[in-house]
Parts: sequence; structure tokens; C-alpha cells
Amino acid sequence: MEKHFKEERTLVVIKPDGVQRSLVGEIIKRFEQVGLKLSAVKMMVPEPSFIEKHYTLDPNWMRLTGEKTIKGYLDKGLEPPSNDPIAISQKILDNLKKYVTSGPVIAMVWEGAHSVKIVRKLVGGTEPLTSDVGTIRGDYVLDSYQMGDVDGRSVRNLIHASGTIEEAEMEIKHWFLENELVDYRLIQEQILYDVNLDGILE
Ligand code: UDP
Ligand code: MG
Repeated sequence: MEKHFKEERTLVVIKPDGVQRSLVGEIIKRFEQVGLKLSAVKMMVPEPSFIEKHYTLDPNWMRLTGEKTIKGYLDKGLEPPSNDPIAISQKILDNLKKYVTSGPVIAMVWEGAHSVKIVRKLVGGTEPLTSDVGTIRGDYVLDSYQMGDVDGRSVRNLIHASGTIEEAEMEIKHWFLENELVDYRLIQEQILYDVNLDGILE
């Protein structure tokens, strides 16, 4: 049988800057408040090879990320550092291996209806300079592609969140063993998902 919408899962990683900025509670609160369910959580200091693998699980990530960065420059009327998306992404990947391994991270799996898109909406766009007010990246950090490139480092944006359902499935397998995911019911799921809401009145 096809999975129900409410069973969709997504991976969130609070990057080292999110932990250092003491934003773990604030970030978790936003996902709890929207109605998602925490299915797994752990703290670790990842190895560079583990991060490289994470970002290259999707063979298209190199091209798409490079293209997005080039567009970010062009939209502001700026010259991108290169016009080759793959060359840009290789540098991004090298920087990410330093950034995301620089301290402890918190990896989590969040489950619920449309969790991939809902989490991305709450997290906000990749570049904090342009991510919307009200999103986690928009509200709590102030970095830009340009500053990251001039200083030769990753854009610090507090969080990783899976971009698509397929990405989420690959990433969850990369970060968690099957038996680390906990299957349980939250009482609030009744009000979020029950069709007839017939368990409320006495
Ligand atoms: N990144 C960067 N410079 C760039 C583009 C991306 O440092 O020009 C970093 C940034 O930390 C981002 C991560 O690489 O979160 C992964 O990029 P992706 O395009 O997948 O963005 P995300 O899915 O995290 O929004
Ligand atoms: Mg991504």
C-alpha cells in the first residue's frame, strides 16, 4: 500500500553554528509547533568523508547547487566567482567538509504530512541574506554567498534540511540505522489527521 501523507519523513541536521548559537531548543520548537513528530535524534561530530557522501548522495546536487549559487549572484546584479556550476560546487563541497565537521551537530528525523516541504518552508532559503523573515535562517543568522566566497568558507545557515522526498529517504539511511527510528503515536495526531474527529466529545 502507498504510504499515507502523514508518514513522510525528512532529515534535519543542526549544523555546528546552530549548536554553538544555542539554537537547538528554538529550532526543535518550530518543528514541534507546526505538528511534526520527532522520530529520531542524535548528536555527533561527523567525519569529512561522511559529509562528502551526504552531499553527493544525489548525483545532481553538484550541478543544481552550482546553478543556484550562480543565480543568487546574477539576481543581485553581481558577477559569480565562476560560470561553471561544477567548479563552484567542488569548492562549496570542500568548504562544507570543514564547516559541518567543526563541532557537534544534531541529526534528527521529523515525520508528518508534507514534512519535506513544511520543514524547508520553516528553515527558509539557503542564503540568510535573502531568506524570508520568520524563517529560521531569516531570523537567526546574517550570512551571504558573497561574504562566504570572499572569506573562502561555507555560508553559515544553521541547518541542513532534505530538499525532496527522494533526498530525504537517502539521507535518513545515511545518518540513521533502521532501528534508531522510533515508530510511535503522538496524541495530537488525532486532531491533525483523524477523518471524523469523533473521539473528542463525551
Ligand atoms: N553553500 C555555500 N555556498 C554556496 C551554496 C551553498 O556555502 O554558494 C553551503 C550552504 O551551507 C548550504 C550547503 O552548502 O546550506 C548546501 O547547499 P544546498 O544548495 O544544498 O542548500 P540547502 O539545501 O542547504 O539550502
Ligand atoms: Mg540541499
